[in-house]
Amino acid sequence: MSDLGTRAWERAEPTTEDYGKPFMAEQLIDSFGRIHTNLRISVTDRCNIRCFYCMPAENVQFMDRKDLLTFEEIERFVRISVPLGLTKIRLTGGEPLVRRDLHVLVKMLAAIPQIHDIGVTTNGILLAEQAEDLWNAGLRRINVSLDALDPVKFKEITRRDGYEKVLEGIAAAQRVGFDPVKINAVSIRGMTEDEIIPLANFARRSGVEIRFIEFMPLDADNAWEREKVLFAHEIIEKLSQEICPLIPCPGQNPHAPATEFQFEDGIGKIGLIASVSRPFCMNCDRFRITADGKLRNCLFSLEETDVRGMLRGGVADIEIASAIRASIAAKKEGHEINTARYIQPDRPMYSIGG
Ligand code: SF4
Repeated sequence: MSDLGTRAWERAEPTTEDYGKPFMAEQLIDSFGRIHTNLRISVTDRCNIRCFYCMPAENVQFMDRKDLLTFEEIERFVRISVPLGLTKIRLTGGEPLVRRDLHVLVKMLAAIPQIHDIGVTTNGILLAEQAEDLWNAGLRRINVSLDALDPVKFKEITRRDGYEKVLEGIAAAQRVGFDPVKINAVSIRGMTEDEIIPLANFARRSGVEIRFIEFMPLDADNAWEREKVLFAHEIIEKLSQEICPLIPCPGQNPHAPATEFQFEDGIGKIGLIASVSRPFCMNCDRFRITADGKLRNCLFSLEETDVRGMLRGGVADIEIASAIRASIAAKKEGHEINTARYIQPDRPMYSIGG
């Protein structure tokens, strides 16, 4: 085989002979039969706020710009993954909107025919100024992280200002056409119980959808405790008692992390991401690449594959495709948070991406 492999990604439509082998048929299936079609791409580890359940308050060592995958390298990795069945992408961070010209990357990825779903998870601080460019570039799904509607609580959690900007960002996203805008709210016992009802009423008033997320042990300060987890069933109970009963939504995507509910009176929809109390690993279709080009087959994986080294080291696409398959083949059954075997990954959340 000549250097076909190294140029295959330049072509719009990869074909079997590009790789010399019919690996189009070989989807990314792990040893538990899970098919992986959904890639989370962290485009930076930098962030403009400091949520205590994610980052240290001060003195964060961020990656050098030269260590970040370039947009072209990200595009190449995606084009290599497409024949393996990749169809869905979520851009994450750190805070993805601090990566300059993010809309350019969205446009590059939206131009790949097999990629029919691109989303972003953002803290919303820069969203008002970027919403239109992102929409015009082809972005269609947006999740905004907002754990509290009380500005004092917001500052306590994020350790930075920006509350008003987040609300402006949500409104701007709705204005340019994102529908629904989804709100990710991490629920923490002893801190955000009082935010559950206000957030749900915000969803009922504004048409956004709230996802309540159980606190996961991925914080940079290793301060996670099970006692601090506000469990999904408690949130459902509180909402049902104080607003009205919740009904599971029909036709749920079995691979989606969130279990969706609508209020019995038909006003408003919420989701529960119960990673700790009701792990959804058996339907997981996700794999991840970090901003510095490390492939992770799970959010909690303790091993990584250095894809950046391959992308910059003249390695052919077909070998990179094999490395992706090997990573997925080695994927564990799920996180082990609820076992004595659980080991928190060295890499903190802001450096993995949600
Ligand atoms: S913990 Fe890992 S296996 Fe489980 S759902 Fe998350 S990424 Fe998938």
